[in-house]
Parts: sequence; C-alpha cells; structure tokens
Amino acid sequence: MEGTLRLVSAPREGSLSEQVERLRRALDEADAVVIGAGAGLSTAAGFTYGGDRFTKWFGDFADRYGFTDMYSGGFYPFDTFEEYWAFWSRNIYCNRYLPAPGSVYADLFGVVRNRDYFVLTTNVDHQFQIAGFDKHRLFYTQGDYGLFQCSEPCHAKTYDNEAAVCAMLKAQGYVKGADGAYELPEGVRPLMEVPSDLVPHCPVCGKPMSTNLRIDNTFVEDEGWHRAAERWADFQRRHERTRTLYLELGVGYNTPAIIKFPFWRATANNPLATYVCVNRGEAAAPVDIERQSILINADIASVISTLTA
Ligand SMILES: [Zn+2]
Repeated sequence: MEGTLRLVSAPREGSLSEQVERLRRALDEADAVVIGAGAGLSTAAGFTYGGDRFTKWFGDFADRYGFTDMYSGGFYPFDTFEEYWAFWSRNIYCNRYLPAPGSVYADLFGVVRNRDYFVLTTNVDHQFQIAGFDKHRLFYTQGDYGLFQCSEPCHAKTYDNEAAVCAMLKAQGYVKGADGAYELPEGVRPLMEVPSDLVPHCPVCGKPMSTNLRIDNTFVEDEGWHRAAERWADFQRRHERTRTLYLELGVGYNTPAIIKFPFWRATANNPLATYVCVNRGEAAAPVDIERQSILINADIASVISTLTA
C-alpha cells in the first residue's frame, strides 16, 4: 500500500477551527466511532518518558547507569534480575497504575461514552480503562504493562502483576500515600534492587517472567487478547456499511499496519465513512479518501477538550 501512495496533508494554520467544526458535525452524524490511538495520545496525556517524571522516579538510576529517559532505561542490560526489577517495577507502576497527569483520556471518554464505539490501540498503559472505557470495547494489540508472561514463553497465559509490582516498590522504600498511590517519603533514598524472592518466575517452567509487551516474537497472545481481536472483527463487520467515523489520534509511522492502514482501507471501502487524523505535524491521508477525510494538525488534548466544551 505504501509504495505508490499519494498523501495529502492537513491544511495550514487558520483553518483549524473549521476542521474541528467539521469533526464535531461528523461526530454528530456518525452511527459508530472507532478510536485508533497511538503513542501520541499518551504523550498528550502527559506520559512523557523524560523530564520531571523521569527525574522523580529514576533520578538515582540516571546517576548510576547514565541513561536519561525511561525509554532508553528499558534497554539497559542490568547485571542482575534484582536491579532489573527495581527499574521495571517503578516503570510499570508510574506508566500503568498511576492515572495520566492530563485529562485527554477522560475528555475522550466524554465524547464517546453514549455512542457505539470501539478502541484499537498500540498503547500499553491501560489509560482507556482507567478513564472508564468499557473493556469489552478495547483491543490492546501490543500488550499491557499490567501483565506478566513467561519469558520463554512455555505457555500462552498472562498474569495480573499489580500485587507483585507494588510489593517490589515497597521493598525499595516506597509507601502508600493518602491518595492510595505509592510515593517516596521525604528524605528517603530508595533501594535500587528488589529482594531475590520478589523476582517473578513462571509458575509452570520456573524461567523468569517478562512483561506482556510486543517487543519481539516471545509476545504471548492470551485468551483475552484473542477475544478482543474477535470483538474488533465483529465490530468492523457490523459497521462496514454504516456512517462510521474513524478517529485516529497520535498514530505515527512505526507500526502503520495496525491502525493507520486499516482505517484508510475501511474508509476507502465505505462511502459513508469518515477518516479523521489528529496528529501535530503528521496529519495526512491518501488522495483517494481526501474528500472523506478531516486532517487536524494540532495538539490532541486541545482538540478533544474543544469537542467536550
Ligand atoms: Zn514458563
């Protein structure tokens, strides 16, 4: 598809409010809304991998190991599982169990909550469910930070990791604050390793556990994953001839085959469909579906909050 494709980009500044108005009308007229969410949506929600959040949670790791953001820390070859899980328990906790700093997920839920909607996402941070989205209308294609799996994997099952992650945080010195969230007491320097008996192992084969993220071919597609895939296929079948609005938010070109290309194809195959792309700097659509497209080159959080106003 990519090879011969001609794209049109979003119009220049000035027509932004006009595009948002078009989006509002298209939403009003739609029978169904499919949200396709990429990394840009979580960035818009304040889930940044560097800066203050990184310093707050990983300042000690930065000093010792020299990495400067959570993403690169995820690739650091720690010598021991005890250090590895100190890093990963904090990483999973602050990116999966804490609510996003910004309100874009909650605002988005306000836009679709009374509609027939479905969410397809490559994000692994669980923020749709935290914001109130129905989990039967979500398909997390690339996994979930909140699940462990066998690293081998010897069997295709995943395990909720909240209790294990919180136990690892506690062992490093974190305590539950008044709001129920773990934090570091004033003046406490956290340990940078977890006790060996908290290192998670597969209950079947005894090998180390890993996080259920599609980073290589060991990714486990468990029963929940397959059921979500079926529900997504059903939703698509029901809406291939209805006024369906495909709302793509913050999807880049790293894995376009998961959201972007299917949205373009579904729009091209259904004259009643509308394709919406909100992405600062990267809002574009194929020429073939230009007349069915609304391209918004702007910050996702401000566009969505305008819709709720
Ligand atoms: Zn195993």
